[in-house]
Amino acid sequence: MVLAENGEDDIVVCTKCDYAANVEAAKRAPKTTTIEPPVAKPAKFHTPGQNTIEAVGNYLHVDPFYTIKAVIKKAIYEDRSEIVVFFVRGCDNLQETKALNACKALELVDADAIEIVQAGLVPGYCGPIGLPENINFYIDKELENQENFVCGANEEDYHWVGVKMVNFKPARYCDLVEVQKGDCCAKCGGKLEITKGIEVGHIFQLGQKYSSAMNATFLDQNGKAQPFWMGCYGIGVSRLVAVMVEASHDEKGCIWNLQTAPYSVDIIISNTKDQESVAFATKLYEDLKQKGVEVLLDERNERFGFKMSDFELIGFPYAVVVGKGLKDGKVELVKRADLSKTVVQKDEILNKILEILE
Ligand SMILES: [Zn+2]
Repeated sequence: MVLAENGEDDIVVCTKCDYAANVEAAKRAPKTTTIEPPVAKPAKFHTPGQNTIEAVGNYLHVDPFYTIKAVIKKAIYEDRSEIVVFFVRGCDNLQETKALNACKALELVDADAIEIVQAGLVPGYCGPIGLPENINFYIDKELENQENFVCGANEEDYHWVGVKMVNFKPARYCDLVEVQKGDCCAKCGGKLEITKGIEVGHIFQLGQKYSSAMNATFLDQNGKAQPFWMGCYGIGVSRLVAVMVEASHDEKGCIWNLQTAPYSVDIIISNTKDQESVAFATKLYEDLKQKGVEVLLDERNERFGFKMSDFELIGFPYAVVVGKGLKDGKVELVKRADLSKTVVQKDEILNKILEILE
């Protein structure tokens, strides 16, 4: 991933260490709070009409941190679909890709009210305790063994208080939350930020799926045939070009570095009617080419300003301007990165360029 303001992916980055991850995979240190927990004995409470986290929190004077939010989805599989419930803290949001990975469905879609009721759930009062037996559900890992929660009682107008998250199978617990700005880094405890990025490369862990199917095997130390473990790696070459421009440009145009520039040097003849300029520039062009330098000669019959603008727009790393100064034995070397100009003796320009490019 390359950080870029116009990127299409949300990237979580740590402000203190080098941790960075796509929001779909980002982790955080478990969320904590300084708010006192609503300590209570487990009990079912009448909470008429309090069918949102905010409403029940206000009604019972409980911070959303100590509530459990149920996100009800319809999971689409190859041959069927089913209602799946994901439980996260009331102050958190479900990260859909993490949820998808948890239930291994092809797709997750919103469940409508009828489907929710048909599955035996009570909208607005869904909780992890007392769910209908056939309902598949997952709980965010951070809730494991935590206590003093308020959650829906799976009964209209009732919530449980004093809930302790124990006695669920370990497989129910998965990382489900979307990391938010201001959460703490799991690596160093620093504050996490969310920024934009562009994916330029990826790794897929294919495991043994394809090697098994294609019977591609090796012999292990016991002489037994085993399918290969496979991975694949890709770099998006064409989008890399866009990313490089995004990462290196100014208001005038692109700024290529020497490794990626189409040409390292652009020789601009200020006045193409001046024979001496044309002769000198052409000779320099040929000499540089001979030395293996990627060089372009701009001998178009255009105004100097026009050619200079093209140099700035396209963003070649260096330009040599052959202009009026040639009469005094001087040319100008322009560095695109900062547009700084250096006057160089015409006899020294070739070596100067070779020196810089080295
Ligand atoms: Zn960190």
